[in-house]
Amino acid sequence: METPGRDRLLAEHIRARPHLRDIFQFYEKIEEIWNASHPDDLLPLIDLRDASVRGRLSEGIPLVDRPAFARIPLTQTALQFRKIITVMKQGGGEREIYAQRISTFMRNSHKPEGEMIGDLLAREDGHFDNVSGVMEVPRPLLVYLLKMSLRISFERLHETLMTFLREIEWEFPHCPVCGAPPVIGQAISNSRRRYYCFFCSFHWECQALEGCPSCGETDTEFFNLLYKHPNEHQGILACETCRTYLKMLDQRAGPDLINPDIQEVVGLHLDMAAGEMGLRPLGQPAAHAEVIKRAGIDDYRP
Ligand SMILES: [Zn+2]
Ligand SMILES: [Zn+2]
Repeated sequence: METPGRDRLLAEHIRARPHLRDIFQFYEKIEEIWNASHPDDLLPLIDLRDASVRGRLSEGIPLVDRPAFARIPLTQTALQFRKIITVMKQGGGEREIYAQRISTFMRNSHKPEGEMIGDLLAREDGHFDNVSGVMEVPRPLLVYLLKMSLRISFERLHETLMTFLREIEWEFPHCPVCGAPPVIGQAISNSRRRYYCFFCSFHWECQALEGCPSCGETDTEFFNLLYKHPNEHQGILACETCRTYLKMLDQRAGPDLINPDIQEVVGLHLDMAAGEMGLRPLGQPAAHAEVIKRAGIDDYRP
């Protein structure tokens, strides 16, 4: 779903950061695809019976039931996936090579793309690793393409559940909708924090935890906010104990909503700095964080 001002915001970022032009332009093309596409109905992924919901939420279990992805039609998602692959093919270089590999794999599987995508999302992570290995396409790139293809469908789902989601009590540092870890945290006051989901782009607010969102470490010798750029109000919450980090934005002075896609690019230097310190993003398994390769994002060289 198009948010008013998203285009304008993007144009401003491109102007201000010409060295990131290529990445932003790729993202701009994805936005064009979204604007001309329709969402799939993801509501059947959720069991909204009262007892079921209450039990799940109190235990920190997200609403989306992953195996259900294999049972719903993902026709629109598949269409967007194919369009994004086409854009990648026009880009040349490494991006084009990966796009070719994905197309070949899809063709050889003799399965409708929507079914294939549903199967990838429904099954355990080992299956995903396996497919990424056979395709010879890095897993993070595959995840990025899937999440971009699902974005407007998830946004439709969030809208449908808006009233419900606003009322739920959720004090966990992972997404109440899809269960993925946050990609960015935002300090909106001294005691409140807003998290942006890495996968479905949902954002939620909860009490700022005193310690590391991953392992609970509170000793400031091991857990601290590092690399705070004076003008950018962003840094990383880094934990030496569990070796994870979370990008943080300080918005206590102006708690505006951010666009996490743009923010992710603008904060690339933070990911690099964290990577050099041997830290991995919060909630991402160690083995998957080593090769961060998102289309147009990680093939960027300063
Ligand atoms: Zn999510
Ligand atoms: Zn930790």
